[in-house]
Amino acid sequence: MPWPLGRGTMYVFYTDGACAVHTTKCGGIGVIGYKNNIPMTPRHEHYCNTSNNRMELEAAIVALHMAPPASVVTILTDSMYVVGPVNDEWKITTNKELWNDFWCLYRQRDITMIHCPRDSQVDQTRADKASKDGLNERKHCLRT
Ligand SMILES: [Zn+2]
Repeated sequence: MPWPLGRGTMYVFYTDGACAVHTTKCGGIGVIGYKNNIPMTPRHEHYCNTSNNRMELEAAIVALHMAPPASVVTILTDSMYVVGPVNDEWKITTNKELWNDFWCLYRQRDITMIHCPRDSQVDQTRADKASKDGLNERKHCLRT
């Protein structure tokens, strides 16, 4: 039994990322999650010196850390940057170290990745708001 921890547990995550690309280059991630249909505590985090694509991918990575190995995970994201390489085997040329983190988590879980257009679902909008909370939560920010 190599990965018994999360076996049979089902997770659904709406993930989003935000970045102030034209000003501080600070970013944020937001995750709205459900464990066996029960809401989890929403997550948001602040990141410095980042990009929109990095934040979209980081949001998925944070979500995967919230689900133990062997669990069954659905991630809904509005980011084709995240969905494309997973579902359509796009070749990845950027942020390889982040993608390595992602694939490591991916291999240990049963993951379905779904493209969820912006504001198409209430929880997608909540994830977007959470990512902006993360972006604006600058108390530990490296930039002034
Ligand atoms: Zn910052």
